[in-house]
Amino acid sequence: MSIRIYNTLTRKKEEFKPQNPPQVKMYTCGVTVYDECHIGHARSLYIFDVIRRYLEYRGLEVNFVRNITDIDDKIINRANELKIDWNELVEKYIDSYKEDLGLLGIQPGILDGKEEPRATRNIPEMIKYIRVLLDKGFAYVTDSGVYFNVRKFKDYGKLSGQSIDQMLNGVRVESDEHKQDPLDFALWKKAKPNEPFWKSPWGDGRPGWHIECSVMSQKFLKADTLDVHAGGRDLIFPHHENEIAQSEALTGKQFAKYWIHHGLLTINGQKMAKSLGNFVTIKDFIKQYQDADILKLFFLTTHYSNPIDYNEDKIEECRKQKESFIDLFYKVNSWKLRKGKSKNPTSKADTDKINSICNKFQEVMDDDFNTPEGLACLFQLLDLGFGFISSDKQEAFNYIKSKLEAFLGIFGVELSLKEIPAEVRQMREDRDKARDEKDFKKADKIRKDLVDRFGLYISDTGGGTSISAVPSQE
Ligand SMILES: [Zn+2]
Repeated sequence: MSIRIYNTLTRKKEEFKPQNPPQVKMYTCGVTVYDECHIGHARSLYIFDVIRRYLEYRGLEVNFVRNITDIDDKIINRANELKIDWNELVEKYIDSYKEDLGLLGIQPGILDGKEEPRATRNIPEMIKYIRVLLDKGFAYVTDSGVYFNVRKFKDYGKLSGQSIDQMLNGVRVESDEHKQDPLDFALWKKAKPNEPFWKSPWGDGRPGWHIECSVMSQKFLKADTLDVHAGGRDLIFPHHENEIAQSEALTGKQFAKYWIHHGLLTINGQKMAKSLGNFVTIKDFIKQYQDADILKLFFLTTHYSNPIDYNEDKIEECRKQKESFIDLFYKVNSWKLRKGKSKNPTSKADTDKINSICNKFQEVMDDDFNTPEGLACLFQLLDLGFGFISSDKQEAFNYIKSKLEAFLGIFGVELSLKEIPAEVRQMREDRDKARDEKDFKKADKIRKDLVDRFGLYISDTGGGTSISAVPSQE
């Protein structure tokens, strides 16, 4: 086992050594439910799902937690804008988020009851956590809430690699007369009139955003130290820096061994924003393309840590790539049906070729989950597969198919063997049209092409046409 991961904390690629293998405790920051999830969220959800699947493929058992932030300033503001109850807003967007997970085929994390852990369902634990931080002298109470004193935590800034003074200069920090230092952050916010609140020793209020992740990750992974903490690059500072400060101040132990951050998504070179009119939700995408796999292939073309730019040409390219997989799988199946056992045996050289590409796949994926290179291996297998079809090597061909299925499974792309290649669909439509127009010469030619090129036989049925790999018995 030698998986290597780029660790934001050490700014190095390191050999991945979970604390108690084969167990891996992995946490990712989930969504704040105040609006529809967009394709930037999809990247985050998807890429960490791929990493999880790959670790499992390599024999590890991944305990995976992803939270839901269901109370936050954004939620309160949005609910006020819409003049609805914040709870109603949250329930609506949690349902919508779950629907998105289903559309993308993303696996759920560890559940709290039937759902991923929600902030508002873990408030007693947050209060307990804050109380210890106060007892240990890392926090202080003001008229507006409880704050963490970053200057008390000597390692503050270690994740982003900055000193406190650099952070102060480099980032616009909201000034607040209640805070001792502008970088101090709220652990507990007292409720203003008409805001939702929970009871606490420091007055009615709600938890700060950062404390949610510290509490839910440690509670649901049952550990002070996580193996992997993951999230978007935009969360490194201040969110992840603050999670580290609270957690390590509380336990005196390292909070997470490996920090993995994905790059951000732009659209046609621009930041995605509602104000720019270029906001693409997950549901918009699915509505337009009817297919989540091509969005996944698009994400795989760029290493997770790099920025990725979305545009429709790239998606079109990925749609074609998916077609070639369907084409190959389809050919295997129809070919098997019509030919039975092939006469040409698989040579050792054939097997060696296949194995060498498969080894390469593992090598590049072991190297910080290099999906663009991994995808390139899949295309090499694809080419080889088409070659084996032409040379009538069934065994080699089936071997490739099984490997492709396994690797595509890691990428969460599960091609249905019932899917018909676009070209075949088109030929069938053209033939139907020719027949309806009584152009029998053209219809017969397409029929013959289908047999020659795909080994497919078309037959007219009562309600239209059917296509099969064996001639019909009539
Ligand atoms: Zn978080």
